[in-house]
Amino acid sequence: MTLIANPNPQDGPQRAIIHVDMDAFFASVEQYDHPEYAGLPVIVGGTGGRGVVAAANYEVRKFGVFSAMPMSRARRLCPDAIILPVRMSRYQDVSSQVFKVFRTVTPQVEGLSLDEAFLDVSASLALFGSIETIGANLRRDILNSTGLHASVGMAHNKYLAKLASDIGKPRGFVHVPADGVRAFLDPMPVGRVWGIGKQTLPKVRKLGILTMGQLRKADPAVLSKVFGNRTAHFQALARGEDAREVVAARAEKSISREVTFDQDISQPRVLYSELQRQAESVSSRLRARGLSARTIQIKVRDYRFRTATRRRSLPAPTTSTEVVFKQARSLLETWLEANQSTPVRLLGVGVSGLESGDEQNSGFDTSNQRALDQTMDNIKSRYGSGKATRALALKRNSK
Ligand SMILES: [Mg+2]
Repeated sequence: MTLIANPNPQDGPQRAIIHVDMDAFFASVEQYDHPEYAGLPVIVGGTGGRGVVAAANYEVRKFGVFSAMPMSRARRLCPDAIILPVRMSRYQDVSSQVFKVFRTVTPQVEGLSLDEAFLDVSASLALFGSIETIGANLRRDILNSTGLHASVGMAHNKYLAKLASDIGKPRGFVHVPADGVRAFLDPMPVGRVWGIGKQTLPKVRKLGILTMGQLRKADPAVLSKVFGNRTAHFQALARGEDAREVVAARAEKSISREVTFDQDISQPRVLYSELQRQAESVSSRLRARGLSARTIQIKVRDYRFRTATRRRSLPAPTTSTEVVFKQARSLLETWLEANQSTPVRLLGVGVSGLESGDEQNSGFDTSNQRALDQTMDNIKSRYGSGKATRALALKRNSK
């Protein structure tokens, strides 16, 4: 591998970083599963009275519909939109396939969400050639294995790689070479600098600074009125400097699922059944990422908006659906005993204390249980998770 002289010494040794972000992920999965929706506006989200938009495809964004908007507003903006419920376990399955593709080019994958990650491919250049070859392979392999499009940003640090994939969306493919940083950044609006949010932006603009180039060249003494002791930091970003590393182990600190019910629920039966679904979803995600968890947690919000979390740590980390569910169920039992027939608005299961690597001989999982988990994961990845659900939950918990 040829070592390239580093134009930004503060960046440390020259690295090759790729940011991959799936385009309109949930909505694209739905369009892929329903070819009849091709070219039509599609919204994924809560369809009940309290629903919000979880994802909007590019056809519906033209109407001003965006993520996190109340669904009622989205419906008014685009009455013809096809509105679909969130099928999280299906998106997790697709996400696992996408992350599998990531790991074919490097083990250095830092997942940011189900459909977005940083990859440090510095050590992969010798094998694959250029960063653009790797980026192109990733896009092709993701398309082949999932049928979906991703945007790829390539640069020598995370900040530039992320900006590059954003700017190219959808189906983006943008490489910012080390000697092209100024040409890339200088014309960009200053609001694109990480950390310049709604509060700071008007103050910066008041100084007459509208672009990153102007921020880069501005007098630090003037900037310090707005940025204080963060002035040097923001000017470094305007120069495209970012020394943060891709940290695979830090990718996920916790994994959780939660649902806000359309109507408050007081039947324990229904709550346990939902809990089983969430435990399955959380633990299959753990296994897909090659992680195991030490701590199981539940979150319960009652009809008065009082939120409780209850957690329990295990003597050894687990990946087992059965273990996650049993612990979560016992936590919920305790909560229900203390809050007799209080209607529940939100319920969630989470795991934390994540460690890489499957647990071995932890004494917590029987080999049968592991085989069952593996079979469920295989069925899910082949057919989508709608096909396979443990029929145990309702029966076992209706007491
Ligand atoms: Mg995305």
